[in-house]
Amino acid sequence: MSGRRIGIMGGTFDPVHNGHLVSASEVQAIFDLDEVIFVPTGQPWQKSNRQVSAAEDRYLMTVVATASNPRFSVSRVDIDRGGTTYTVDTLHDLKAAHPDAQLYFITGADALEQILSWRQAEELFALAHFVGVTRPGYQLDDTHLPHGSVALVDVPAMAISSTDCRARVAAGRPVWYLVPDGVVQYISKRDLYRDGAP
Ligand code: ATP
Ligand code: MG
Repeated sequence: MSGRRIGIMGGTFDPVHNGHLVSASEVQAIFDLDEVIFVPTGQPWQKSNRQVSAAEDRYLMTVVATASNPRFSVSRVDIDRGGTTYTVDTLHDLKAAHPDAQLYFITGADALEQILSWRQAEELFALAHFVGVTRPGYQLDDTHLPHGSVALVDVPAMAISSTDCRARVAAGRPVWYLVPDGVVQYISKRDLYRDGAP
C-alpha cells in the first residue's frame, strides 16, 4: 500500500454547502486522506426538470468554498469532459492523473442508494473504495451492498441541501451559515437562483 490517499467528492454543487464540506472534512480525518478533490459535474445535455447553473459558476463557488482548506482542491475533469457525468468516467480520469493513489469516493446516503442501480458497480469498486456518509432524511443501509464494499461513516447531521438553498434565495430568505460566506456573496454577485425554479 503506497502512494497518496485521495478522497473524491462528486456533486452538482449548485450551490456547494456546508453539508458537503463537513462530509469531506470528516472523511478526510477518519481515513487520513492526503487530499479531498471536489469534482463538480459536467453540464447535462438535457436538463431534466430544471436548469442546472452554468458549470463555471458551480466550479467557482466550489473553489471559493474550499480555498481556505489546504487539503481540499477542485478538479475540472467532469466539467471539461462535458455532458452528463458518469462516476466511472470520473474515476478513470482521476486514476489516470494519480496512478499510484488510492481513491476514496465519498457519497451521501441518497447518492449511495443509486450505487445499487449503477451498471458498472463491479468496475467502480475496483477503481475506488466507497465511503457512504449519513445525511438527515435518508437511511444509510448497506444490506443490499456487496459485503465490505462500502464503508459507512456518521458525519455531524447537517440538514442542508442545495435544493433548499436555491429555494431560499428565490424566496429572498437567507443562506448565511448554510453555505460559506464567499458563496453567499458569489450567489448575490452573479444573481443566481433568483428566477425561482428550484
Ligand atoms: P440537490 O438538492 O440539488 O440534489 P444536494 O444538496 O443533494 O443538491 P449534491 O451536489 O447533489 O447536493 O450532492 C453531492 C454529494 O454530497 C452527494 O453524494 C450527496 O449525497 C452529498 N450530500 C449533499 N448534502 C449532504 C448533507 N447535508 N450531508 C451529507 N452529505 C450530503
Ligand atoms: Mg443531490
